[in-house]
Amino acid sequence: MSLIPDDVIEQVREAADIVGIIGEHVELKRTGADYRAPCPFHGGTHRNFAVIPRKGMFYCFVCHAGGDVFTFFMKKLGMDYPTAVREVARRAGITIPERGPTGPDPREPLYSAVAAAADWFARQLRESPEAQVARDYLTTRHLDLETVQPLGLGYAPRSKAFLDAMKGLGVRDEVLLEAGLLARREDGTLAPRFRGRLLFPIHDVRARVVGFGGRILGEGEPKYLNSPDTPIFHKGKLLYNLHVAKHAMRKAERAILVEGYFDALRLSLAGIEEVVAPLGTGLTPEQAQLVKRHAPHVILLYDSDEPGLRATFRAGDELLREGLRVSVATLPAGEDPDTLGQKKGAAGIEEILNDAVDVLERKIQILDRKGFFGTLPGRRRALDRLLPTIRAAKDPITRELYIARAAEAAGVRKDVLEREALGAGSGEQYRAAQQGNRSPLPAPALPANAEKALVLLMLEGEPWKSRVVEAVDPEELEFPPYRAVFESVADDAVLALDDTSARAYEQLKAEGLGRRDPNEMYELALNWMEARRLERQLEQLDDQLPFESPERQASLIAEKRRVFDELRKRYPRYKIAKRRRGAPGT
Ligand SMILES: [Zn+2]
Repeated sequence: MSLIPDDVIEQVREAADIVGIIGEHVELKRTGADYRAPCPFHGGTHRNFAVIPRKGMFYCFVCHAGGDVFTFFMKKLGMDYPTAVREVARRAGITIPERGPTGPDPREPLYSAVAAAADWFARQLRESPEAQVARDYLTTRHLDLETVQPLGLGYAPRSKAFLDAMKGLGVRDEVLLEAGLLARREDGTLAPRFRGRLLFPIHDVRARVVGFGGRILGEGEPKYLNSPDTPIFHKGKLLYNLHVAKHAMRKAERAILVEGYFDALRLSLAGIEEVVAPLGTGLTPEQAQLVKRHAPHVILLYDSDEPGLRATFRAGDELLREGLRVSVATLPAGEDPDTLGQKKGAAGIEEILNDAVDVLERKIQILDRKGFFGTLPGRRRALDRLLPTIRAAKDPITRELYIARAAEAAGVRKDVLEREALGAGSGEQYRAAQQGNRSPLPAPALPANAEKALVLLMLEGEPWKSRVVEAVDPEELEFPPYRAVFESVADDAVLALDDTSARAYEQLKAEGLGRRDPNEMYELALNWMEARRLERQLEQLDDQLPFESPERQASLIAEKRRVFDELRKRYPRYKIAKRRRGAPGT
């Protein structure tokens, strides 16, 4: 295990000024979004060395040295990885806690072996006569070598040349076996795992190559072959391109999930950076969690044929289970993201993404088009298809909205569908999720949940009704049906409610407080409402900031700091709450 925690390394990388740091060693000139200089590694005089701040990486088109800001220090100044991280941290003003005696990561030989292999495969793709088949293949996909080189694509020859090359570099067979680059045959001899394949390097979040995905060129099975699971490569826990995409995901507040390496590569080349792909299998819960760490919203961009749709909805359910907002973008028939990107470029892809609809809505569209809602048995089957998605929605408000929408589409009563959706066994889970009894404050992290708690208390009658009305202004409730119920109960005018709010009222009445402690609920809900008030204040300050004079900005920033500190004190989970804002599948 490395002694510097992953999240600290990420923080350092994000804070690092890669242009400033590399600029101390070479004279960088801006060209478009990138910077160019003579290469400090091979000592050239032409500007073949590129620094790409958007991707946080550098690459030389002549000697092919490349990597991130840490790799730069390692290659230029001969530092080891932890020293490089500490040096970059020092410059970015980040303190890395010292954690006992430092020692080498026992997996270090595996990382080195895979890195050496990646360099060698990349060189084969550029230079080896045998790799002409790979270069030709790239041409058929309208990709030139120059474009894919910085991404580290490689070629694994059919021969055993890989074995000799690694031996020449002093990499031991046992290490290559453990790294999944060699396989032992039944007769005991060793053979390269990848042969006659175009290789996509797969990186961990630290941007180290940990494995490969290989596409067969010519005849053979399987079409795609990945590295086997090793101590550093876990297929179900990595996402292709995440090391690059995570920055863009944070900025765009969305992730685009595609099926294949070429799809991800095409979108990334088109300038849509927030794209990731699972490694040739269905999306796993761990991968959904990885996405969630960087973005609150996912757009699924898979093929629109039957298998593509099945994969779409399976991935959608997995993401809903993590509480993410999920949309589906629909490609024209016969296109995949790669072909569409080739034909229409970024604008064409952006257009498709803009038309993305919520995942449940997409299911309803498809069922409707197939005529499911026209007959009674059809409606029943349609509901059976919708129920898994409804049940997957972990976010309680999304789930309520889904139940309402599915009930409307299938023409059934909402309460009937609700009972079925919660089903035997899952009801307890749902209740637990709503009450949030796993950690101190998970459920009230949602505004409408605090709002719901307040309305439930009011429905208990006095003294709760007066206490709530005194403490909270109905204007502060953001979920319209709850606001309407709040107002009508406060005014004793329940009969004036419109249909939607009346149903919400009846539902809340039926739900009641159950075994929940009203005092505790009241505390938590008020706490949340207050935090939300402060959060709104912060949002207003943010909106104001860009238009003010520098002096005024300074005082606004001081004010922001004060509000933020107060918020942190009162509501330590504020950040999580903020990220989840707007999570309901709108
Ligand atoms: Zn160079």
